[in-house]
Amino acid sequence: MSAVILDGREVSKQVRRRVKAEAAAFAEATGVTPCLAVIIVGEDPASQVYVRNKKIACEKCGILSREYALPEETTQDELVALLRELNEDPAVHGILVQHPLPRHIEESVINHTIDPIKDVDAFHTENVGSLFVGDAKFLPCTPAGVMELLDAYGIEVSGKECVVVGRSNLVGKPQAMLLLGRNGTVTVCHSRTRDLAEVTRRADILVVAIGRPKFVTADMVKEGAVVIDVGVNRLSEGLCGDVDYEPVAEKASYITPVPGGVGRMTIAMLMKNTMEAARLQVKA
Ligand code: NAP
Repeated sequence: MSAVILDGREVSKQVRRRVKAEAAAFAEATGVTPCLAVIIVGEDPASQVYVRNKKIACEKCGILSREYALPEETTQDELVALLRELNEDPAVHGILVQHPLPRHIEESVINHTIDPIKDVDAFHTENVGSLFVGDAKFLPCTPAGVMELLDAYGIEVSGKECVVVGRSNLVGKPQAMLLLGRNGTVTVCHSRTRDLAEVTRRADILVVAIGRPKFVTADMVKEGAVVIDVGVNRLSEGLCGDVDYEPVAEKASYITPVPGGVGRMTIAMLMKNTMEAARLQVKA
């Protein structure tokens, strides 16, 4: 079997097209254009690329973007003060702070300073809690992007054995909640899981988010499984995922490539969340 490629480039384009139409209709009805504020602290080159890509995505969707590039020495208090200002600014609907932050700034303080209604990354515990009970305003972008991809290809989750490898707050845990919300039977694995391959081989839907290049090999995957590779690893020969792509693609029914899979979806879902944030804040 050779897997069907879950094409994040194409599906993210469709999402962006939908958001663009919604943003235009919203501006027409309310006179307000949705706006995303993106804050970057320091000069991490990978973060700079991510911020640039977010700005380009905003332009493509007809969403305004404001960029705040702050020096590495910015204090936590200064960043908090900026966030409070943006929380109060009615022209800004979504706020995103690019991670990782310099070590002297506590991520949890920053995540909790952003007003939950502008928290388009869904990192605030109010939004995390809403996801848990199933009434989230915003879904975290990467796991939501995975669900959007599954939906775009008509892949049913209900009743399936879903295995998520990785339990980060950013990807693994929210991914498990979203799959559970769709009635998947979900197992979450991590670095202490005993006999990982035995668990992953049970998966009808396998989501891998660990940050280890080509870690999941063909012998760890069931024939006909849907394999979602969230990993992004920078090697000298270029980007690769956490899944050993070619051999796994021979066994899987569907697979995401890296690049061109989940990464594209993440930014598209950020646009969707910004549109939703504007809707929640501006009355038509
Ligand atoms: P993270 O916070 O470092 O978490 C990694 C998780 O993987 C942890 O739960 C860890 O287990 C688990 N793990 C590590 N080695 C393992 C092993 N040998 N066996 C089983 N589990 C193992 O990473 P993250 O933020 O979730 O990101 C994961 C990957 O996704 C990275 O490559 C990142 O760049 C990528 N990513 C991509 C996107 C996108 O848009 N495509 C978005 C976010 C992240 P413990 O908890 O036991 O330590």
